[in-house]
Amino acid sequence: MNESRTPLIIGNWKMHKTAAEARSFFADLARELGSAGMPADVEAGIAPPATALHAAAEGQTLGVRVYGQNVHWATHGAYTGELSAAMLTEAGAAGALIGHSERRQYFGETDATVNQRLKAALAADLQAVVCIGERLEDRKSNQTLDVIARQLDGALADLEAAAVARLVLAYEPVWAIGTGETATPDQAQEVHSFIRTHLALRFGAETLAAVRILYGGSVTPENVAILLAQPDVDGALVGGASLDAGKFAKLLHFR
Ligand code: PEP
Repeated sequence: MNESRTPLIIGNWKMHKTAAEARSFFADLARELGSAGMPADVEAGIAPPATALHAAAEGQTLGVRVYGQNVHWATHGAYTGELSAAMLTEAGAAGALIGHSERRQYFGETDATVNQRLKAALAADLQAVVCIGERLEDRKSNQTLDVIARQLDGALADLEAAAVARLVLAYEPVWAIGTGETATPDQAQEVHSFIRTHLALRFGAETLAAVRILYGGSVTPENVAILLAQPDVDGALVGGASLDAGKFAKLLHFR
């Protein structure tokens, strides 16, 4: 973690929690945070299912921003099941996840569609969180950095450095998501450092000062501090552990 980049911790609820459950999560979170409240030097976000966006936006009073789990590239049209950037903004979202590995694995997301979604998010001033990460077979065959470079190049195709400077990236090794098998701090740092260098070569070193790179993959209150102690790990994207208000409060107070 570099002190010039404010740590960002985002909970990805995936297909969990109704609007009522989201409201009770934030009531529990307020209680868990207690009088200490949100740590002043950490940014927090929750990406709920679309039907709970409005309810989760009430959590903004605690200082937790809301993210969509996806965003479509068109402003409107015949795209059943999709949401536009303007719809997310209206529902209270400040940003959106793009290219989560579950979208890639189950819903045909490609680097090209990630690029299109990213451009729409940037145009609408949504904070884009672009997810990348290798599969177990990629890591076993020493392809990790090639896969990461290819995903980055595809996701960021045609973007100017000024746009890249506004991004958040999430490195999420697919083999670590929801498996309880976390990347070691060294494994995370190696890939985060590679991402930063790759971006510097393509877009210029100045771009990098602002770009935060989150780690995701079985982050828990127990391992968050050691992961975020790595110089290029600027926060976490957390699935399972973010569903529990007590654990989420602990994640936010990782220091
Ligand atoms: C995720 O959903 O992005 C994720 C990292 O999940 P988990 O923390 O459960 O591994």
